[in-house]
Amino acid sequence: MLVIQTAFLGDVVLTTPLLAALATQHGPVDVVTTPVAAPLLETHDAVRQVIPYDKRGADRGWSGVRRLAGRLRTQRYERAYLPHRSLRTAALAWRARIPARIGFSGGWSFLYTDARPKPRTGHESDRLLALAEGPPGAYPPHLRPTAEDEQAAAALLDGTFVALAPGSIWGSKRWPYYAALAATLAKHVAIAVVGGRDDVELGNEIVAAVGRSGGRAVNACGRLTLRQSAAFIGRAVLLVTNDSAPLHLATAMRTPIVALFGPTVTEFGFGPVRPGDVALGTEGLLCRPCSPHGPLQCPLGHHRCMRDLSVEAVIAAIEEIGALRRRS
Ligand code: SF4
Repeated sequence: MLVIQTAFLGDVVLTTPLLAALATQHGPVDVVTTPVAAPLLETHDAVRQVIPYDKRGADRGWSGVRRLAGRLRTQRYERAYLPHRSLRTAALAWRARIPARIGFSGGWSFLYTDARPKPRTGHESDRLLALAEGPPGAYPPHLRPTAEDEQAAAALLDGTFVALAPGSIWGSKRWPYYAALAATLAKHVAIAVVGGRDDVELGNEIVAAVGRSGGRAVNACGRLTLRQSAAFIGRAVLLVTNDSAPLHLATAMRTPIVALFGPTVTEFGFGPVRPGDVALGTEGLLCRPCSPHGPLQCPLGHHRCMRDLSVEAVIAAIEEIGALRRRS
Protein backbone atom coordinates (compact mmCIF):
# COMPACT_ATOMS: atom_id res chain seq x y z
CA MET A 1 0.00 0.00 0.00
CA LEU A 2 1.39 3.36 -1.04
CA VAL A 3 0.42 6.94 -0.17
CA ILE A 4 1.81 9.83 -2.24
CA GLN A 5 1.74 13.19 -0.43
CA THR A 6 4.20 15.80 -1.70
CA ALA A 7 2.31 18.98 -0.75
CA PHE A 8 3.39 21.52 1.90
CA LEU A 9 4.76 20.42 5.25
CA GLY A 10 1.50 21.24 7.08
CA ASP A 11 -0.44 19.12 4.59
CA VAL A 12 1.88 16.19 5.30
CA VAL A 13 1.21 16.51 9.05
CA LEU A 14 -2.52 16.66 8.34
CA THR A 15 -2.23 13.46 6.29
CA THR A 16 -1.17 11.46 9.38
CA PRO A 17 -4.83 10.61 10.25
CA LEU A 18 -5.23 9.09 6.76
CA LEU A 19 -1.99 7.11 7.25
CA ALA A 20 -3.22 5.87 10.64
CA ALA A 21 -6.58 4.80 9.20
CA LEU A 22 -4.97 2.96 6.28
CA ALA A 23 -2.49 1.26 8.62
CA THR A 24 -5.36 0.09 10.82
CA GLN A 25 -7.14 -1.33 7.78
CA HIS A 26 -4.17 -2.80 5.89
CA GLY A 27 -1.00 -2.59 8.01
CA PRO A 28 1.79 0.04 7.85
CA VAL A 29 2.03 1.92 4.56
CA ASP A 30 4.83 3.25 2.36
CA VAL A 31 4.79 7.00 1.73
CA VAL A 32 6.27 9.11 -1.03
CA THR A 33 6.84 12.63 0.32
CA THR A 34 9.22 15.59 0.08
CA PRO A 35 12.75 15.35 1.54
CA VAL A 36 11.78 18.08 4.02
CA ALA A 37 8.79 16.16 5.37
CA ALA A 38 10.37 12.69 5.18
CA PRO A 39 11.96 12.69 8.69
CA LEU A 40 8.59 13.54 10.25
CA LEU A 41 7.03 10.38 8.84
CA GLU A 42 10.02 8.05 9.25
CA THR A 43 9.19 7.47 12.93
CA HIS A 44 5.41 7.35 12.51
CA ASP A 45 3.77 4.11 13.69
CA ALA A 46 1.60 3.90 10.56
CA VAL A 47 4.56 4.10 8.18
CA ARG A 48 6.68 1.19 6.97
CA GLN A 49 8.98 3.12 4.66
CA VAL A 50 9.39 6.71 3.47
CA ILE A 51 10.45 7.33 -0.11
CA PRO A 52 11.71 10.91 -0.55
CA TYR A 53 10.77 12.64 -3.80
CA ASP A 54 12.77 15.82 -4.43
CA LYS A 55 10.36 17.28 -6.96
CA ARG A 56 12.03 20.71 -6.93
CA GLY A 57 15.61 19.41 -6.92
CA ALA A 58 17.26 16.14 -7.96
CA ASP A 59 13.95 14.60 -9.14
CA ARG A 60 12.51 17.65 -10.91
CA GLY A 61 10.79 17.43 -14.26
CA TRP A 62 9.35 14.45 -16.11
CA SER A 63 12.64 12.55 -15.99
CA GLY A 64 12.30 12.56 -12.18
CA VAL A 65 8.72 11.30 -12.40
CA ARG A 66 9.78 8.53 -14.80
CA ARG A 67 12.71 7.50 -12.58
CA LEU A 68 10.68 7.32 -9.38
CA ALA A 69 7.75 5.62 -11.15
CA GLY A 70 10.19 2.92 -12.31
CA ARG A 71 11.37 2.43 -8.73
CA LEU A 72 7.81 2.23 -7.43
CA ARG A 73 6.87 -0.28 -10.15
CA THR A 74 9.41 -2.76 -8.77
CA GLN A 75 7.59 -2.68 -5.41
CA ARG A 76 4.38 -4.02 -7.06
CA TYR A 77 2.02 -1.94 -4.93
CA GLU A 78 -1.61 -2.96 -5.35
CA ARG A 79 -3.10 0.34 -4.22
CA ALA A 80 -2.06 3.98 -4.07
CA TYR A 81 -3.88 6.69 -2.12
CA LEU A 82 -3.39 10.17 -3.58
CA PRO A 83 -4.57 12.92 -1.19
CA HIS A 84 -2.78 15.71 -3.12
CA ARG A 85 -4.56 16.75 -6.31
CA SER A 86 -1.58 17.35 -8.58
CA LEU A 87 -0.56 16.21 -12.03
CA ARG A 88 2.78 14.93 -10.71
CA THR A 89 1.07 12.76 -8.10
CA ALA A 90 -1.47 11.35 -10.55
CA ALA A 91 1.19 10.71 -13.22
CA LEU A 92 3.53 9.05 -10.74
CA ALA A 93 0.96 6.46 -9.61
CA TRP A 94 -0.24 5.91 -13.19
CA ARG A 95 3.28 5.44 -14.59
CA ALA A 96 4.15 3.13 -11.66
CA ARG A 97 1.26 0.96 -12.97
CA ILE A 98 -0.35 0.66 -9.56
CA PRO A 99 -3.65 -1.11 -10.33
CA ALA A 100 -5.86 0.78 -7.84
CA ARG A 101 -5.30 4.56 -7.69
CA ILE A 102 -7.61 6.33 -5.26
CA GLY A 103 -7.84 10.09 -4.95
CA PHE A 104 -10.19 13.05 -4.90
CA SER A 105 -12.22 13.94 -7.98
CA GLY A 106 -11.29 16.99 -10.04
CA GLY A 107 -7.97 18.04 -11.49
CA TRP A 108 -6.18 15.04 -12.93
CA SER A 109 -8.51 12.41 -11.50
CA PHE A 110 -9.09 10.88 -14.95
CA LEU A 111 -5.75 9.16 -14.24
CA TYR A 112 -7.23 7.50 -11.12
CA THR A 113 -9.22 4.29 -10.99
CA ASP A 114 -11.35 5.57 -8.10
CA ALA A 115 -12.10 9.30 -7.78
CA ARG A 116 -14.03 10.26 -4.67
CA PRO A 117 -15.55 13.66 -3.85
CA LYS A 118 -13.53 15.65 -1.35
CA PRO A 119 -15.68 16.94 1.54
CA ARG A 120 -16.17 20.71 1.16
CA THR A 121 -16.38 21.42 4.87
CA GLY A 122 -14.61 20.25 8.02
CA HIS A 123 -10.98 20.22 9.01
CA GLU A 124 -8.47 19.32 6.31
CA SER A 125 -7.20 16.36 8.36
CA ASP A 126 -10.73 14.90 8.33
CA ARG A 127 -11.26 15.74 4.66
CA LEU A 128 -8.10 13.79 3.80
CA LEU A 129 -9.15 11.00 6.15
CA ALA A 130 -12.38 10.67 4.11
CA LEU A 131 -10.26 9.03 1.40
CA ALA A 132 -10.05 5.97 3.67
CA GLU A 133 -13.69 6.40 4.73
CA GLY A 134 -12.57 7.20 8.27
CA PRO A 135 -15.12 9.07 10.40
CA PRO A 136 -14.16 12.69 11.29
CA GLY A 137 -11.98 12.93 14.39
CA ALA A 138 -11.35 9.18 14.55
CA TYR A 139 -7.59 9.63 14.02
CA PRO A 140 -6.12 12.90 15.32
CA PRO A 141 -2.93 14.22 13.66
CA HIS A 142 0.03 12.63 15.40
CA LEU A 143 3.85 12.69 15.24
CA ARG A 144 6.39 10.66 17.16
CA PRO A 145 9.81 12.28 17.74
CA THR A 146 12.51 9.94 19.05
CA ALA A 147 14.18 10.01 22.48
CA GLU A 148 17.18 11.69 20.77
CA ASP A 149 14.89 14.36 19.36
CA GLU A 150 13.48 14.97 22.84
CA GLN A 151 17.01 15.24 24.27
CA ALA A 152 18.03 17.80 21.66
CA ALA A 153 14.87 19.79 22.36
CA ALA A 154 15.42 19.69 26.13
CA ALA A 155 19.05 20.78 25.70
CA LEU A 156 17.91 23.99 24.01
CA LEU A 157 15.49 25.03 26.74
CA ASP A 158 14.22 22.98 29.63
CA GLY A 159 11.47 23.86 32.06
CA THR A 160 8.29 25.79 31.38
CA PHE A 161 8.07 28.01 28.32
CA VAL A 162 5.71 29.49 25.77
CA ALA A 163 6.63 28.97 22.12
CA LEU A 164 6.02 31.68 19.52
CA ALA A 165 6.05 30.97 15.77
CA PRO A 166 6.17 34.41 14.10
CA GLY A 167 7.17 33.34 10.58
CA SER A 168 5.37 32.41 7.38
CA ILE A 169 6.55 32.25 3.81
CA TRP A 170 3.50 34.38 2.97
CA GLY A 171 4.31 37.79 4.45
CA SER A 172 0.68 38.86 4.88
CA LYS A 173 0.13 35.98 7.32
CA ARG A 174 2.70 37.36 9.77
CA TRP A 175 1.25 39.06 12.83
CA PRO A 176 3.45 42.11 13.50
CA TYR A 177 3.31 42.27 17.33
CA TYR A 178 5.12 39.13 18.50
CA ALA A 179 7.93 41.14 20.15
CA ALA A 180 5.45 43.13 22.26
CA LEU A 181 3.55 39.95 23.16
CA ALA A 182 6.80 38.20 24.13
CA ALA A 183 7.91 41.10 26.33
CA THR A 184 4.58 40.96 28.19
CA LEU A 185 4.46 37.17 28.57
CA ALA A 186 8.12 37.05 29.66
CA LYS A 187 7.14 38.66 32.97
CA HIS A 188 5.55 35.31 33.85
CA VAL A 189 7.21 32.59 31.76
CA ALA A 190 10.24 31.90 29.55
CA ILE A 191 9.81 32.43 25.80
CA ALA A 192 11.10 30.37 22.86
CA VAL A 193 10.86 31.49 19.26
CA VAL A 194 10.45 28.60 16.81
CA GLY A 195 10.91 28.59 13.05
CA GLY A 196 13.33 27.84 10.27
CA ARG A 197 16.55 29.50 9.16
CA ASP A 198 14.59 32.23 7.39
CA ASP A 199 13.10 33.26 10.72
CA VAL A 200 16.38 33.78 12.62
CA GLU A 201 16.30 37.57 12.31
CA LEU A 202 12.66 37.71 13.41
CA GLY A 203 13.62 35.52 16.39
CA ASN A 204 16.53 37.79 17.31
CA GLU A 205 14.24 40.83 17.41
CA ILE A 206 11.83 39.03 19.74
CA VAL A 207 14.62 37.78 22.00
CA ALA A 208 16.04 41.32 22.19
CA ALA A 209 12.63 42.71 23.18
CA VAL A 210 12.35 40.11 25.94
CA GLY A 211 15.91 40.93 27.07
CA ARG A 212 14.97 44.62 27.41
CA SER A 213 11.99 43.64 29.59
CA GLY A 214 14.23 41.58 31.89
CA GLY A 215 12.76 38.22 30.85
CA ARG A 216 14.28 35.03 29.49
CA ALA A 217 14.04 33.98 25.85
CA VAL A 218 15.69 31.60 23.43
CA ASN A 219 15.77 31.87 19.66
CA ALA A 220 15.36 28.28 18.44
CA CYS A 221 14.88 29.27 14.78
CA GLY A 222 17.11 27.22 12.49
CA ARG A 223 18.72 25.35 15.39
CA LEU A 224 16.65 22.15 15.35
CA THR A 225 15.71 19.55 12.79
CA LEU A 226 12.05 19.36 11.92
CA ARG A 227 11.42 16.39 14.21
CA GLN A 228 13.35 18.07 17.02
CA SER A 229 11.19 21.15 16.43
CA ALA A 230 8.08 19.00 16.84
CA ALA A 231 9.54 17.65 20.10
CA PHE A 232 10.40 21.20 21.22
CA ILE A 233 6.89 22.51 20.47
CA GLY A 234 5.55 19.45 22.29
CA ARG A 235 7.38 20.59 25.44
CA ALA A 236 5.86 24.10 25.36
CA VAL A 237 2.87 24.93 27.56
CA LEU A 238 1.42 26.96 24.69
CA LEU A 239 2.14 27.87 21.07
CA VAL A 240 1.13 31.24 19.67
CA THR A 241 1.37 30.98 15.90
CA ASN A 242 0.23 32.35 12.56
CA ASP A 243 -1.63 30.15 10.08
CA SER A 244 1.52 28.15 9.27
CA ALA A 245 3.17 24.74 9.68
CA PRO A 246 3.98 25.08 13.45
CA LEU A 247 0.21 25.20 14.10
CA HIS A 248 -0.07 21.68 12.70
CA LEU A 249 3.05 20.47 14.52
CA ALA A 250 1.49 21.70 17.79
CA THR A 251 -1.79 19.97 16.96
CA ALA A 252 0.08 16.71 16.35
CA MET A 253 2.07 17.16 19.58
CA ARG A 254 -1.04 18.13 21.61
CA THR A 255 0.31 21.51 22.66
CA PRO A 256 -2.37 24.15 23.40
CA ILE A 257 -2.64 26.70 20.58
CA VAL A 258 -3.62 30.32 20.09
CA ALA A 259 -3.57 30.79 16.31
CA LEU A 260 -3.69 34.19 14.61
CA PHE A 261 -5.45 34.29 11.25
CA GLY A 262 -5.13 37.35 8.98
CA PRO A 263 -5.78 37.00 5.24
CA THR A 264 -7.00 33.43 5.67
CA VAL A 265 -9.83 32.01 7.80
CA THR A 266 -10.34 28.78 9.72
CA GLU A 267 -13.23 27.88 7.39
CA PHE A 268 -10.54 26.92 4.85
CA GLY A 269 -9.98 23.87 7.09
CA PHE A 270 -6.51 24.57 8.47
CA GLY A 271 -7.27 25.98 11.91
CA PRO A 272 -6.78 24.39 15.32
CA VAL A 273 -8.84 21.22 15.65
CA ARG A 274 -8.40 20.18 19.27
CA PRO A 275 -10.98 21.24 21.87
CA GLY A 276 -9.78 24.25 23.87
CA ASP A 277 -7.47 25.61 21.19
CA VAL A 278 -8.31 29.06 19.88
CA ALA A 279 -8.13 30.89 16.55
CA LEU A 280 -8.32 34.69 16.46
CA GLY A 281 -9.00 36.90 13.46
CA THR A 282 -10.20 40.43 12.78
CA GLU A 283 -13.95 40.27 12.21
CA GLY A 284 -15.91 42.56 9.93
CA LEU A 285 -13.21 43.27 7.33
CA LEU A 286 -14.81 43.06 3.90
CA CYS A 287 -11.48 42.20 2.23
CA ARG A 288 -10.95 39.14 4.44
CA PRO A 289 -10.18 36.41 3.43
CA CYS A 290 -8.31 37.65 0.38
CA SER A 291 -6.61 34.48 -0.92
CA PRO A 292 -6.35 30.76 -0.19
CA HIS A 293 -2.74 30.99 1.11
CA GLY A 294 -2.39 34.68 1.93
CA PRO A 295 -0.50 36.98 -0.43
CA LEU A 296 3.14 37.97 0.10
CA GLN A 297 1.99 41.51 0.90
CA CYS A 298 -1.39 43.05 1.64
CA PRO A 299 -2.79 44.05 -1.78
CA LEU A 300 -4.56 47.01 -0.13
CA GLY A 301 -1.44 48.16 1.71
CA HIS A 302 -3.05 48.57 5.16
CA HIS A 303 -2.77 44.93 6.37
CA ARG A 304 -5.59 45.57 8.82
CA CYS A 305 -6.46 41.88 9.12
CA MET A 306 -3.31 41.48 11.21
CA ARG A 307 -2.59 45.00 12.43
CA ASP A 308 -6.04 45.32 14.04
CA LEU A 309 -5.45 42.15 16.07
CA SER A 310 -4.10 43.58 19.33
CA VAL A 311 -1.64 42.16 21.84
CA GLU A 312 -4.37 42.59 24.48
CA ALA A 313 -6.75 40.38 22.47
CA VAL A 314 -4.10 37.67 22.20
CA ILE A 315 -3.32 37.83 25.92
CA ALA A 316 -7.05 37.63 26.71
CA ALA A 317 -7.26 34.47 24.58
CA ILE A 318 -4.23 32.97 26.34
CA GLU A 319 -5.87 33.67 29.70
CA GLU A 320 -9.13 32.20 28.49
CA ILE A 321 -7.63 28.84 27.54
CA GLY A 322 -5.69 28.78 30.83
CA ALA A 323 -2.50 27.34 29.34
CA LEU A 324 -0.25 29.36 31.67
CA ARG A 325 -2.27 28.39 34.73
CA ARG A 326 -1.69 24.71 33.90
CA ARG A 327 2.11 25.05 33.82
CA SER A 328 4.07 22.93 36.26
S1 SF4 B 1 -6.49 42.59 1.69
FE1 SF4 B 1 -7.43 42.45 3.68
S2 SF4 B 1 -7.33 40.26 4.20
FE2 SF4 B 1 -5.87 40.60 2.53
S3 SF4 B 1 -3.91 41.00 3.52
FE3 SF4 B 1 -4.90 43.00 3.20
S4 SF4 B 1 -6.03 43.43 5.10
FE4 SF4 B 1 -5.52 41.24 5.05
